[in-house]
Amino acid sequence: MKPIDFHSISLDPLFFNYSCNNDVDFFILRLDKMHDEISGNKWFKLRYYVDDAIAQHKQTIITFGGAWSNHLLATAAYCQSKNLTAVGIVRGEKPAYLSYTLKRAGELGMKLFFVSRNDFQEKIMPAELKAISDDAYIIDEGGYGMKGTDGAATISRYYKENEFSHICCAVGTGTMVAGLIKASTPQQTITGFSVLKNNRSIEKEITTLLTNEKINNHSIIHDYHFGGYAKKNHLLIEFMNRFYSETSIPTDFVYTAKMVYGVFDLANKNFFAPGSRVLLIHSGGLQGNNSLPQGTLIF
Ligand SMILES: *Cc1c(COP(=O)(O)O)cnc(C)c1O
Repeated sequence: MKPIDFHSISLDPLFFNYSCNNDVDFFILRLDKMHDEISGNKWFKLRYYVDDAIAQHKQTIITFGGAWSNHLLATAAYCQSKNLTAVGIVRGEKPAYLSYTLKRAGELGMKLFFVSRNDFQEKIMPAELKAISDDAYIIDEGGYGMKGTDGAATISRYYKENEFSHICCAVGTGTMVAGLIKASTPQQTITGFSVLKNNRSIEKEITTLLTNEKINNHSIIHDYHFGGYAKKNHLLIEFMNRFYSETSIPTDFVYTAKMVYGVFDLANKNFFAPGSRVLLIHSGGLQGNNSLPQGTLIF
């Protein structure tokens, strides 16, 4: 058993030289700092599933993700620290070279199984897993679900009620943003930036997690996916380098950089009213930058 060595999360004012001349203050919650591998929102989303698995005396956790899944890596690291066996079911055939993220998950003891996209979609378990899957604890892809939402809602413990008029975050499965909405007040606006292209079903997936909670104070922006999941272009890379040189804050190209870019682009278009206090959630995932060619980023 290897105890998790958590670092402290900070909430910092964000000074970035953008051209918006509105009187808007920006802040950033550095969830990326907490851990290299269980980074950002992933510990929050996993915590209640893992507690539940342990309460049910499960020895194995099975979960699902794609080739760059920060969720699989976080699950691997979390399970290692709790002496649980982790199994990751990966979408698509096994590639010739594993991504850094999957390789690390394997090094941390996660057993990886690659399944066809169709089997993944249908949640068909590989035959080798039949024997253990009946007694394993299953977590949906990306930690999507109620326990993930309730865990993500605890991110709000790092700021005070109504301290911010706006809270902005990246959206993959929508679990984190659902938790933030759940923890918000009706006076706050929650804005999620979808990192998938045209993922129009996301609104429905988010409201499903909210059951009958207040659901009118949020919106999902679809304009900053940069071509789709894990896609990027020179504008995004230049932005990441500029943001780092001005703030010393590293971002990941799959999630947080797209959200930060979107926030400041919208700020330039006067999206935030004067007097707004905007919190950006840095949700981690920095190890994903290891898949970029050397020299792409200045950090
Ligand atoms: C997983 C992840 C997200 C997306 O979280 P969801 O709850 O799936 O929407 C955002 N940022 C980073 C860095 C992530 O790893």
